[in-house]
Amino acid sequence: MPRDQRRLDHLTWPEFKERVNRTAVIVPLGAVEQHGYHLPLGVDGQLPFHLALEAASRFPAMVAPPVWYGYKSQPRSGGGGRFPGTISLDGGTLTDIARDLIADLARQGQNAIVLLNGHMENTAFSGEGADLALRDRGAQAKVVLINWWEHVGPDVIDRLFPEGFPGWEAEHASLTETSLMAHFLPDLVLQDRLQQDEEFRPVPAYSVWPEPIGLVPESGVLYQATGASAAKGALLADHIAGEIVSILRAEFPDLAD
Ligand code: ZN
Ligand code: MN
Repeated sequence: MPRDQRRLDHLTWPEFKERVNRTAVIVPLGAVEQHGYHLPLGVDGQLPFHLALEAASRFPAMVAPPVWYGYKSQPRSGGGGRFPGTISLDGGTLTDIARDLIADLARQGQNAIVLLNGHMENTAFSGEGADLALRDRGAQAKVVLINWWEHVGPDVIDRLFPEGFPGWEAEHASLTETSLMAHFLPDLVLQDRLQQDEEFRPVPAYSVWPEPIGLVPESGVLYQATGASAAKGALLADHIAGEIVSILRAEFPDLAD
């Protein structure tokens, strides 16, 4: 594996020291969660990791090792905890991880911190970690939390979903995630296991504990991956990375080239 200057885990400590607060630090947040018959369990961490690397090619940033685990998969947005291989953290654990990483980066003088999230269920708990790092740990930092899917513009949505967009909760292991994986990590997309004929069956828009059986389609794909392609993934990746860089320029103008 060649050394990648964008990756914090590839740097030496003097290199890190040299770059502290002269670049942003992006921490990708993922999940270990089922993604249908055709995608691996690590999609939600891989996508923000690769989007972060793309953003770091266009804006001064170090990409920290991803937090590969996330808050509990919910049936409506990730298929839920009943699928084998979905391995999740309690909310307080994720909050503590986010809080500790932010506080320890800030302790070393790193003020510009970005949480780039790839798993819907992480949103509130990682944000809570950011808030507690500043409130309770006195972290001198500015933290920006970005959910990548919230930065796909309506023009791109219209191009990718000419028959109508099902909403981001249903877009799980479906067209966008499959296309982005086909772009970044094509060997991890099992095209021959992609269900072409599965019907879209919306999951009820309310939550029940204990988690009901049979709530989501057997495959774990909540919408449809039909029509996914590496070309669409390339379009999405370029667009989303551009949006991320716009946010970084706006929030961290002193770091922009
Ligand atoms: Zn996902
Ligand atoms: Mn997810």
